[in-house]
Amino acid sequence: MKYLVLFGPPGSGKGTQSENIIKKYGYAHISTGDVLRAEMANQTELGKTAKGYIDAGQLVPDDLIIDMLAKTMDGYTEAKGIIFDGFPRTVAQAKALKEMLGKRGSDVTVMINLQVDNDELVKRLLERGKISGRSDDNLETITKRLETYNTQTAPVIDFYKEDGKLENIQGVGSIDDIFAAISKVIDSKA
Ligand code: ADP
Repeated sequence: MKYLVLFGPPGSGKGTQSENIIKKYGYAHISTGDVLRAEMANQTELGKTAKGYIDAGQLVPDDLIIDMLAKTMDGYTEAKGIIFDGFPRTVAQAKALKEMLGKRGSDVTVMINLQVDNDELVKRLLERGKISGRSDDNLETITKRLETYNTQTAPVIDFYKEDGKLENIQGVGSIDDIFAAISKVIDSKA
């Protein structure tokens, strides 16, 4: 089974490109953001706790996320591949993922890092906020999320670089061109 980490700052296009990967490769998709939004909509204990962090542009604590991810992953033992979208977001999460996959006798196949500059991200997220209805797509929370990304999430890039899994992809340009670059990387890991 292929294990693909789709990585990048908020607004870098992880969700859009995940859809393309699902269509072409038939991989399963785990988005921690989507799982959290479902928990919030259902007003579960986890959802209620998560909302405070999410609306403040902060990360939900590692132990809650790792536990949630492990449970979600148990449901995917048959897939051809799994796309991790929005996870790992801290080095601790990256280490936990390595351990979880190690128990399956496996490891992350590749980490695809979508690179997009800050001004473009703010522009995209504000645009998305007009239609997404997401409580975290407003300028104040967006600014905080990008700050959180730079301090807590960007170090994950070095973790995968040292692990020999990092592939950088330019996340600006046409969606099709970016997807072509992603496909090339996935195909090279057959
Ligand atoms: P985006 O990529 O646009 O920031 P997501 O939908 O991936 O959006 O995540 C929304 C919010 O959910 C994040 O800002 C964060 O608060 C929380 N979240 C999602 N995934 C994680 C994670 N792996 N660890 C901690 N918090 C997370």
